[in-house]
Amino acid sequence: MHEALRVAFEASLAFREGLPDRPVAVQATLASLRANLGRPLGDAGEPPDQVIASLVRHADPGIMAEPGPRYFGFVIGGSSDAAVGADWLSSAWDQNCGLYATSPALAVVEETCARWLVELLGLPMGSGVGFVTGCQMAHFTCLAAARHALLARVGWDVEEEGLQGSPRLHIVVGEEVHVTVPRALRFLGLGAGRMTRVPVDAQGRMLASELAKTLKHLEGPTLVCAQVGNVNTGAMDPMAAIADICETHHAWLHVDGAFGLWAAAVPGMRAALKGVERADSWATDAHKWLNVPYDSGVAIVRDARAHRAAMTVAAAYLIQQEGDAARDAVDWVPEFSRRGRGFPIYAQLRALGRDGLAALIDRSCALAHRAAEGLAVIPGARVLNEVALNQVLVRFTPADGSDADAFTKRVVEGVQAEGTCWLSGSTWHGMGVMRVSICGQDTTEDDIDRSVEAIRKVVTGLA
Ligand SMILES: *Cc1c(COP(=O)(O)O)cnc(C)c1O
Repeated sequence: MHEALRVAFEASLAFREGLPDRPVAVQATLASLRANLGRPLGDAGEPPDQVIASLVRHADPGIMAEPGPRYFGFVIGGSSDAAVGADWLSSAWDQNCGLYATSPALAVVEETCARWLVELLGLPMGSGVGFVTGCQMAHFTCLAAARHALLARVGWDVEEEGLQGSPRLHIVVGEEVHVTVPRALRFLGLGAGRMTRVPVDAQGRMLASELAKTLKHLEGPTLVCAQVGNVNTGAMDPMAAIADICETHHAWLHVDGAFGLWAAAVPGMRAALKGVERADSWATDAHKWLNVPYDSGVAIVRDARAHRAAMTVAAAYLIQQEGDAARDAVDWVPEFSRRGRGFPIYAQLRALGRDGLAALIDRSCALAHRAAEGLAVIPGARVLNEVALNQVLVRFTPADGSDADAFTKRVVEGVQAEGTCWLSGSTWHGMGVMRVSICGQDTTEDDIDRSVEAIRKVVTGLA
């Protein structure tokens, strides 16, 4: 009975137990993966346990050790046992989590997570909260609420009339806005090409004085997108000054806090984000720094009525709750049917507790400093950013002083192939860089030291 589930369970345990020792990069090639996985679909079905065993055998060589302790690529967190366990149950329970009527337990779990998160992040009580697939869809959700509220103020019902013939909505972002903001704007019909970009400082922080100048020239509904946690440097926009300016101009202030917003859960770090709580909406990820598995993002909107108005849907056959009797997820997210995304968040928050969450964020930042210090003494290495959070940007110049961009790229490729750790390259201010992002809860000081040593060996081997 349920042999396929047992095979999957055993394989999951074996994978996770092997994570600390497994090379982080994949061993397989595209051709070998295609040869093994890309076969024609048979006419006859196969026994489920054999399907799972075969999937494990053939997929495993193409699985990155992303939840492992030495994966530092992009901004990708690990996943805790509590969160993965709850995620398994979410699949096994197979609830359609759009409505209270179809998933009462999930509805209560998500209303609880909503309360916990708003409190942990120091945001206004009573804010609307939607559990979406990731930060990009959190932007989409928050900016739909912004679009609703800003256009309603000038007498336009965007849900009914759309944007055909609507009043102009001004969109202002920092020069280093994350690509998912314009993408959300595109999907909302607001136009990625309609953004006014405000200059930033050397770390990528929006210059408040430049924002003030920009807004002075704009009349009518205005949306400002700030960020806490620049995807390269980790830098935070000056939120208090930005909030003052937006207040003066009655602009809607949205915050991209994909990972940086979690710093608000650390008492000692709150000062760095001061003013963030004065925004109108916040988008963040749970699958990054909270260490729950994919896909999991959170949209938070101060004006819960605007949030709901932008998302809700009504149909005669839906059984929705009268008023606020219970939570129907369909009111807070763009999806209709959906999985029980709140279960892993709930389990992870309980497993960590307030102190554990603060310690996770704090430790990641301390480890980023340790990595920066270790990398800085490698011959030819230069750390380019102020390590304010969990991100480190480093660039390598060869001993003969030749092309640092090309050399840094070779170092990144060499480190990826070597397998001790994995990190990605990026281009920052026109310079090729290696980017180290630390947001996995299992990473230790020893993992950092081993990784720095592996990078040092690659650099000296290439020089
Ligand atoms: C990762 C990231 C996003 C996008 O998040 P997804 O969960 O991938 O949709 C947006 N903004 C920043 C700053 C990010 O780091």
